[in-house]
Amino acid sequence: MLDALNLRSVLAEHYDLAPSVEAAEATRDLYARMDRVVPPADWAVYAPYVQAINALKKQRNAVILAHNYMTPEIYHGIADVVGDSLQLAIAATRVEAQVIVQCGVHFMAETSKVLNPEKTVLIPDPAAGCSLAESITPEGIAEMRAKYPGAPVVSYVNTTAAVKAASDICCTSANALQIVDAMEGDTVIMTPDRYLAQNVAKLSKKKVVWWDGSCIVHELYTAEDLRAYREHDPEVKIIAHPECTPDVVAEADYTGSTSGIVDWVHRHKPKKAMLVTECSMAANIADELPEVEFAKPCNMCPYMKKITLEKILFALHTMSGEVEVDPAIAGKARVAVERMIDLSRSLAR
Ligand code: SF4
Repeated sequence: MLDALNLRSVLAEHYDLAPSVEAAEATRDLYARMDRVVPPADWAVYAPYVQAINALKKQRNAVILAHNYMTPEIYHGIADVVGDSLQLAIAATRVEAQVIVQCGVHFMAETSKVLNPEKTVLIPDPAAGCSLAESITPEGIAEMRAKYPGAPVVSYVNTTAAVKAASDICCTSANALQIVDAMEGDTVIMTPDRYLAQNVAKLSKKKVVWWDGSCIVHELYTAEDLRAYREHDPEVKIIAHPECTPDVVAEADYTGSTSGIVDWVHRHKPKKAMLVTECSMAANIADELPEVEFAKPCNMCPYMKKITLEKILFALHTMSGEVEVDPAIAGKARVAVERMIDLSRSLAR
């Protein structure tokens, strides 16, 4: 576990990170991308970190990949590429920089390492896990294969490299249905998210069977809450992530991956929108869509929120938090991820 006091004392020796109106002024262009959701006083706190990280990034020949669930100061202030798991996985295959800083959770950093074995991949907090990734092991995959002989295993990217290596192909929430439908045979095993699998099963021509994992953020939403919210505010458009339960998805006006959600809100520009997903999603697109009023509530992912500007600066400064994947596992995991990327591309044509 990262020692916060040690981290701060190391940074204090090398950087002036006191809140600064001058630094805030010098980074006004970045702040303009998030001034609807980040108060000026907070930006004066973030700006010295943003300046330090952006300068260090160049010195280290590093690129920052940030998931849509990162906070706005990370998403808009320092990220080079933002997106959902699939977009980040594809971006990772095109990276020229020698160092990748993964602002997301551990399985995402593993995916970047698997796709870039020769590069240095850093995660600012190695304890940034995921309830889905932790719910299944390679033994779990073997159990499912024994129960459904011959059925292909489609594992969500929210899994460890070892689980990916034991699977036939990966999927994301953006391409799960297409990947499942493209599998051979009548039955497809999906792991580890039971709700994503149930949502896919409703639309798929295959018989879908699943592992019993879930996302601790999305499973908190209930259909009753959404109905109550809509009754209170009939104008609101409800936009859900497919990691939510099928009951919640049935209440939604649109269901899609985080990139699908961003896209849908941009295209439809509803007067009011409730994003039934992680809190930072709405915050990150609020400034681009001033005409949309984003309704609360939202649920926060405690794993994603482990990634902070302070930890990113520390990781880049000390080159710590390096992610390693056993080459034998990485090779097999790469096959499962690349199959997904190739199939996604060919199906999109
Ligand atoms: S939001 Fe859910 S699926 Fe995403 S990292 Fe957090 S726990 Fe995992």
